[in-house]
Amino acid sequence: MGWADEVFRTDGFLGLITQLGSLGDRWSGWMGGDRALLGTGLLAALGMVLLRGTGLLQPLELQGLDALQRLRPAELADGRIVIVGVNEADLNWLGSPILTDGVLADVLQRVLAQQPRVIGLDFYRNIPVEPGQASLEAVLKTTPNLVGIEKVIGEEGQPHQGSVLPGNAILVAQERVAASDLLVDFDGRVRRGLVFPAANGPRILEGLGARVALDYLAAEGITPDPGSAILRFHLPRASPVELFPVERHTGGYVRADSGGYQILLNPRRTAQSIALISVRDLLTGNVAEDLMRDRIVMIGSTAPSSADLFYTSHSNRQFRTTGITYGVEVHAELASQILSQVLDGRPPLHSLAEAWEIALILALALGSVSLQQRLQPPLGDPLSGAIGLWAIGLAVPLVSYGSLVFYGLWLPMVPLLGTLMLTSIALGFNRSRQFKALSEKDGLTRLANRRIFDQTLQREWLRALRSPQPLSLIICDVDYFKRYNDSYGHAQGDDCLRRVARAIAESTSSSALAARYGGEEFVVLMPNSTTDQALACANQIRERLVSLQLPHRASNVADHVTISLGVASLIPTMEIPMGALVERADKGLYGAKQAGRNQAKVYDEPNL
Ligand code: GH3
Ligand code: MG
Ligand code: MG
Repeated sequence: MGWADEVFRTDGFLGLITQLGSLGDRWSGWMGGDRALLGTGLLAALGMVLLRGTGLLQPLELQGLDALQRLRPAELADGRIVIVGVNEADLNWLGSPILTDGVLADVLQRVLAQQPRVIGLDFYRNIPVEPGQASLEAVLKTTPNLVGIEKVIGEEGQPHQGSVLPGNAILVAQERVAASDLLVDFDGRVRRGLVFPAANGPRILEGLGARVALDYLAAEGITPDPGSAILRFHLPRASPVELFPVERHTGGYVRADSGGYQILLNPRRTAQSIALISVRDLLTGNVAEDLMRDRIVMIGSTAPSSADLFYTSHSNRQFRTTGITYGVEVHAELASQILSQVLDGRPPLHSLAEAWEIALILALALGSVSLQQRLQPPLGDPLSGAIGLWAIGLAVPLVSYGSLVFYGLWLPMVPLLGTLMLTSIALGFNRSRQFKALSEKDGLTRLANRRIFDQTLQREWLRALRSPQPLSLIICDVDYFKRYNDSYGHAQGDDCLRRVARAIAESTSSSALAARYGGEEFVVLMPNSTTDQALACANQIRERLVSLQLPHRASNVADHVTISLGVASLIPTMEIPMGALVERADKGLYGAKQAGRNQAKVYDEPNL
């Protein structure tokens, strides 16, 4: 029975600890019997969760998402939406740095001629752009399926003002205005779409992309459940579809600004996922006749000079993989994404609840230490361990990629890889500690081994020679230990040696070195100590062992286990050989045995 069992053999609180201890044993049994390994796994997971909480990983996690998004297989373009973009060439052709109200009216007339279902007009005006105000106003008045924009989240210090687009008052009065605001992450990329921006006025406006999508769906009789905080659509013969709102810790975000109602953007990786036509093609009739019929038409700027430029997950300096760059394209993508989710069952981009992410990190940490330990026992083949590590290291991004592509699930790939790294670093430390212990400690008693004693004796001898100062040594030998073995068996003999070793360790100061010299003999090396101090220590060891009262029925001295000790002390000089200290202590021990055992004797030359 181990000492821990004795300590914990009390009921109540200690009983509870015992229970927990045995639970730990069961876990550590799964860990290959090493409790330190379980601790390593738990610590690595905890460290990663804390590190993640600091937000330091957020850039990496978002870039990890971008990387996976760019590797997605291409999807079919969304034919339900058409963008009419005003590009630089159009402005050159029109001979104007900006679309005049009149041209805008012409564009709208052309679009209306094709009878689209919904029109989203992504133009905002601070000052009127003549000529053509009257005709634009007339078109806006008579087009009930047109939605205009306002900027809801005003610039710092600038009070919000409505657009001066002619006819804007009519749009406002008929509630045909949406918010043009976009959410840009710290690194300038747009990864979230606004269903509703945080309200900062009496009217709550949908984001433009969400608004045109909702109008499109409403025309098919699909409307969100009333009275629900989350947009949820009930569909015939299908399970309800929800737009998952982004929260402060969704996916890799840490304390994100989650104001309003945001969803994660999940753009298609297609060169042109949404058809884009230019104003010039539209006005010159260079457009298929039915291109816009019953579709969503988004009209906005696609000219770099408009400064309405953005980057998304797919933007990459090396290769552009989608056409999403302009504000109007981001709105169109949000609309497309909502339509695809509701109408086509395309999985939305979403993440696990935070508790599940933590559970996943914990599971990986424990699994990784367990696997690494199984593949790489302390003296086993390091190659198989490395292969195991590589296998998990590859599995994490592969599984993350698969779950993103097939389920739209954004797994915490970066924290998982980080956890893997932490566990292998921690295991490396653990292993080198184990090797150190193996090479320095006696396996049975956990005291220093003979090699360390020899090294220390040499070092301290030289030091004492230089100072000079006294060096003392105690040698302990268990009395009638052969008989103990014969009487109680070898296993209990081992246990007895462990207790003797602990008694020795507990009776010596930290500046002394207690070591197993061999068999049932122990030594205590005491630098800078006098004979008296060493003798006092020797007696303390002897008394502590006596106080343990370990039964020894075969002993001739007492009915419990006792030891004899020899003490020697000297100030080293060049004339004395180093072996003299051990020799003298041994003679002291011989004297103690001769004098009847269970005592300490100092080496004393004249009397021996
Ligand atoms: P004395 O009082 O004179 O020291 O008598 P003793 O029986 O202790 O004599 P001795 O020192 O010759 O006996 C040493 C015994 O210790 C012999 C050996 O079986 C036992 N021994 C040595 N190492 C171990 C060990 O690691 N485990 C166990 N169980 N016994 C050991
Ligand atoms: Mg002996
Ligand atoms: Mg002995």
